[in-house]
Amino acid sequence: MSIHRTQGIVLRTRKIRESSRIVVFFTRDYGKISAVAKGSLRPKSKFGSSLELFTRSSLIFYRKENRDLHTLSHSDILSAHKDLKKDVVKLAYASVAVEMVERLVPGEDPNKPLYQLLDSVLKQIELAERQQLEVVLTAYVLKMLHLVGYGPELTGCVRCSKAIGDKAWFGLVSGGVLCRQCHGQDLNAVEISQEALELMRKYEGEPMEELRQAYTADAVTREISDILGSFVRTHIGEGGKIKSLEFLERMRDASYA
Ligand SMILES: [Zn+2]
Repeated sequence: MSIHRTQGIVLRTRKIRESSRIVVFFTRDYGKISAVAKGSLRPKSKFGSSLELFTRSSLIFYRKENRDLHTLSHSDILSAHKDLKKDVVKLAYASVAVEMVERLVPGEDPNKPLYQLLDSVLKQIELAERQQLEVVLTAYVLKMLHLVGYGPELTGCVRCSKAIGDKAWFGLVSGGVLCRQCHGQDLNAVEISQEALELMRKYEGEPMEELRQAYTADAVTREISDILGSFVRTHIGEGGKIKSLEFLERMRDASYA
């Protein structure tokens, strides 16, 4: 058994037995880990509220060789995101951010840039005005896909590398933008506007905080988020669903109606 110190963000929790939980963290140094927090549901548990969803804490855990489930020994809150947790709409956006990591990141595979991105998106969601939320989440999804190896090609045609003309398509299977000649080869290609393509490149390249301040959700952001939603569903495979994303899309459609 070995002892490890790191910090991590709570992605999911599940009750086991009377008073304990299994907590899935995305940690800075070890990637995604699962740990048992014994007695964490008792009223005076030493873990306090540090195991709530989205909370970032410093952690100490024990690891047994060849086991996927570790034992959490201590956790101290670094960011509680109290303002985020009070707002149901923000909760819906933050849920997509953490579920994307949970679903698309393999087990214990350290990815510090992704850890920083997840930390940053939760902060930006907490700070965002309502009309900035979709910009923040859409930019996050695009950046996140790049950090886990699914980043779409947005400069030249993903099949023939030629520059994209005045009409462009996004290939959900090909994983990027397609030119007029190639789009027919991807049965799941959808047309994408020049405005959306240009904004996607900005979302990919600029820091999230600046994007949040510079843009508000409009039809172009919606076009991008619809394409990315379909792209993610295509790549997580048969029957693959990001539950929180389906929920967010239904909620968003209802509120725009
Ligand atoms: Zn092409």
